[in-house]
Amino acid sequence: MAFTPEQETKLIAAVQAKANRKTCPGCGTSSWSLGPETVLLQATEPGVPIPLGRGYPCIALICRLCGNTQLYNVYYLGVGEIVGLGSPKGAT
Ligand SMILES: [Zn+2]
Repeated sequence: MAFTPEQETKLIAAVQAKANRKTCPGCGTSSWSLGPETVLLQATEPGVPIPLGRGYPCIALICRLCGNTQLYNVYYLGVGEIVGLGSPKGAT
């Protein structure tokens, strides 16, 4: 399910409060879009088949020009509750 407008506002505010990179390292522009839903960055060990269901929940900022995508872990960013994933589990 896509983020609600209220969630989007809170997520963008959280990124702006903690991240200071404003230009895209891929193309140098500064036009970003918030991805519409949470992204799971899959964790794997070398040579081990992908274990479904394990990973790092993130929100994605996507450069509107080149598509470069930056991921922000929802727990380290402090938005786990906002995206409906609860409180941190091991994030400090
Ligand atoms: Zn770019």
